[in-house]
Amino acid sequence: MAAELQGRIKGRVLAEEPLAGHTTIRIGGPAELLALPGDRTDLEICLDFARQKGLPLFVLGKGSNLLVRDEGVRGLVIKTAGLNRLEVGGNTVWAEGGVPLPRLLAEARRRGLAGLEFAAGIPASLGGAVVMNAGTPEGSIGSLVQKVEVLDRQGRTYALRGEELEFDYRKSKLKGAGLVVVAAALALKIGDGKQIAEAIARNVALRRRKQPLNWPNAGSIFKNPPGHYAGWLIEQVGAKGWRQGDAEVSTLHANFIINRGRATASDVLQLMARIRQAVLDRFGIFLETEIEIWGEGP
Ligand SMILES: Cc1cc2nc3c(=O)[nH]c(=O)nc-3n(C[C@H](O)[C@H](O)[C@H](O)COP(=O)(O)OP(=O)(O)OC[C@H]3O[C@@H](n4cnc5c(N)ncnc54)[C@H](O)[C@@H]3O)c2cc1C
Repeated sequence: MAAELQGRIKGRVLAEEPLAGHTTIRIGGPAELLALPGDRTDLEICLDFARQKGLPLFVLGKGSNLLVRDEGVRGLVIKTAGLNRLEVGGNTVWAEGGVPLPRLLAEARRRGLAGLEFAAGIPASLGGAVVMNAGTPEGSIGSLVQKVEVLDRQGRTYALRGEELEFDYRKSKLKGAGLVVVAAALALKIGDGKQIAEAIARNVALRRRKQPLNWPNAGSIFKNPPGHYAGWLIEQVGAKGWRQGDAEVSTLHANFIINRGRATASDVLQLMARIRQAVLDRFGIFLETEIEIWGEGP
């Protein structure tokens, strides 16, 4: 099947490709097929191919919010990195779904456009950030979204307005909807280049101090329960430094699990179960998973 799809698109197609190389935590078994469409036409061909062959479809941005099980996934994984066009008109930034947020931020800073500084240091693609409504207590991307262009599994294109997407804490109507974010337009504000650069530098420095960025990780593992910080709850049960294989609860930020080298998805899942139980026993609070888990499992 890989050769067949490769014959139709300009981008690359890989068979049984380990997804560990495509996630920030560097964990994950193989994808039956991994396609890297070179542009929107390639993407449409990939969707058509998945439909024809009855293949389950997965969309992969930067893999910064993902844990792929060790057995991997059957079906077609579409990695959006090749959808990388970016245009600026006035204070609107339009970009394709595979554009990394750091590139968007650099462009906004260069042009003196403010509003995205809160996102400095979030290692997402624009598509992944919109679907997850990525953000911090300072702001989230949903509030900037003017319009999103999506493709459905039948290959039909729609434009959705920001107000229609029901952005909420780390979610939107797009999550699990079976749509691919092809592009999004963000409304920024005319600002001062120097102040924007300073805010970005401040936010990046804060992350360096508070997050274990020297080790592969997937960002926050659990959502903050209403009125609490997951990291604080986890710290209170003494979980910092807990280890399962090469997976470790970060000693810097308790809501991060780092991969010290050869951690498996199973190690991470066991550690998550232990943390969740300890927090439930001590505080009666159930921690909801923030990261997305791909693959079949118990
Ligand atoms: C060090 C670190 C710090 C982080 N800090 C933050 C933070 O401060 N705030 C925050 O909110 N998150 C943070 N994250 C988590 C993560 O960056 C976000 O959840 C981000 O939105 C995920 O984007 P992604 O492109 O990596 O998506 P992926 O992890 O690749 O995918 C996540 C979900 O989005 C879907 N998806 C991706 N692209 C598309 C597309 N084009 N169309 C349709 N669906 C798509 C996937 O199918 C999946 O369901 C952090 C992660 C790390 C590693």
